[in-house]
Amino acid sequence: MLGSRNKLRFALSRTNSRVLTKKLKYGNPVVHMNGGQIILVLPCIKSWGATGILLEWEDTFPYSGELANIGSIYIKEGVYTMDEVNRIMQIAEENGLLVIQLVQTFGHMEFVLKHNEFSTLREIQQAPNVICPLKPESQLLIKAMLEQVLDAQPNATHLHIGADEVWHYGVCEDCSVHATGNKHGVVSLYLQHIRDLVLFIHDKRPNIRILMWDDMLREYNLGELVEPVVWNYSPVDCFHIPPAMWSSYQKVFSHIWVGSAFKGANGCAQILVSSSRYVSNQDAWISVADEKPFDITFEGVILTGWSRYDHYATLCELLPVAMPSLASCLRRWVKPKQEQVSEAYNEAVLSERTCYERFQKFIKGDFDIEDKDCSGRPKIYEDAELEEDSSQTQKELALTLEVTQQAVSHHLKSLVMIHKQADIMEVLPQQDWPGYDMACAVHAFVLLRNRCIALIHGDEVAAWLNPWQVENKYVNPIQVQGIAVAAERLLKELVATEENLQSSFQCVIGDRSKNEWIATLHSPLVKQVRRIYENAYHYANSAVRALPECICPNANEL
Ligand SMILES: [Zn+2]
Repeated sequence: MLGSRNKLRFALSRTNSRVLTKKLKYGNPVVHMNGGQIILVLPCIKSWGATGILLEWEDTFPYSGELANIGSIYIKEGVYTMDEVNRIMQIAEENGLLVIQLVQTFGHMEFVLKHNEFSTLREIQQAPNVICPLKPESQLLIKAMLEQVLDAQPNATHLHIGADEVWHYGVCEDCSVHATGNKHGVVSLYLQHIRDLVLFIHDKRPNIRILMWDDMLREYNLGELVEPVVWNYSPVDCFHIPPAMWSSYQKVFSHIWVGSAFKGANGCAQILVSSSRYVSNQDAWISVADEKPFDITFEGVILTGWSRYDHYATLCELLPVAMPSLASCLRRWVKPKQEQVSEAYNEAVLSERTCYERFQKFIKGDFDIEDKDCSGRPKIYEDAELEEDSSQTQKELALTLEVTQQAVSHHLKSLVMIHKQADIMEVLPQQDWPGYDMACAVHAFVLLRNRCIALIHGDEVAAWLNPWQVENKYVNPIQVQGIAVAAERLLKELVATEENLQSSFQCVIGDRSKNEWIATLHSPLVKQVRRIYENAYHYANSAVRALPECICPNANEL
């Protein structure tokens, strides 16, 4: 692990804090107490260089009393009790991690506004995202939420009030009338709402520091009331923050944070996590921090990790799968490049071959994948980006695992990037991480899914068992025998994979998210492959037909 000397010397010059945020969206308590995973995650991220944890509870927090319906008491399964919340706080404290709770106060309010009892507080009836700031009940509701969350952390030094992505406001009848009559227009609604809440929080906790995402602040000035978290999740190539923004922030705010991403920012339905893409985002921010625009020293970096793009969106890039990315991202902040270069030549670092071997073991999981040819087998493609020796190793892996070389390349990039340039080298964490079994199961599933898709949309089914042929019973039995064999084999593997997913997900994310994930990604595949298998098996054992049924329904079979 890293020496404190290095942390002090290098980390402080960039930021004081590296805080991991967990977006605990509905049905997705990414790390659940019952499995004991949280106890492992906190010391794990601490050892990787995190100095705190930002908890966006959403509806996994045990709100009580009049708020009982919006939180974990209502959901019951897979979320946190107050005892568990207290335990998380305690473990974080024991590990020296700063805990910042996040309560959404304007946008991203779906978990509250979706309920009938709060539907009248929506700014727009069809959109449960944004709360109307002018309705008296809105302020009462949010203040009650803030009170309960603050009560759970008597020694809180920071609180995050979200307030990002307020896509529409000033549009309901009350708000539009108010905006029209105010010289600052709709801006006055936003400023007044946030200001009232901040004053309320300071009234309860005078010394607490209040953070909020900065996207709305790019237009509005909230002075010394809050500390903006400037977020940008783009990789280096498309990362841009206008210098004028730093100039104006520097005049207004005495404390500024930055927000990067280690997962959940690469597409709303992504399953795997590309470490290199997120490391690139850290590099972009590190360059900004090193340059110190307008002499700004950032308070800290918050590494965010979305698991859904909004409350109703599907699950994406789950935390256990993203742990290697998190380790790599934290490593960028903790260690200077020159140290990583020297490490690359250290014998302790995994060699390229070792990484490939570990990768092979990783994605194989508990499956014994036979090395034999079958119908519908995908083609092997060249990957021009890779050097000759790497390409050769990937070909061997692709053959052994019976997947495309592209799939191997993709998985490899998501797990471990080995470049000849040591300064961009990432390695797998030196230990199994909490949720490792689940990550293995997800990777194994994605490989199998690629093979299923290759069969479903491949040439063989399109040429000899397409919907027209099935509908018209015009199928050549000998040609579909291979399809039947391939589909049967995939079905068996899908069954085995489901058992693996069930058991490994269970102890990490609970029934609700497990069932949703499997029903979204695994079950539809089973259905499609089974249909192909049943059709192929049927026609492989049927007599040859002379004409398609649409031409001659009564044609005699020969
Ligand atoms: Zn309104």
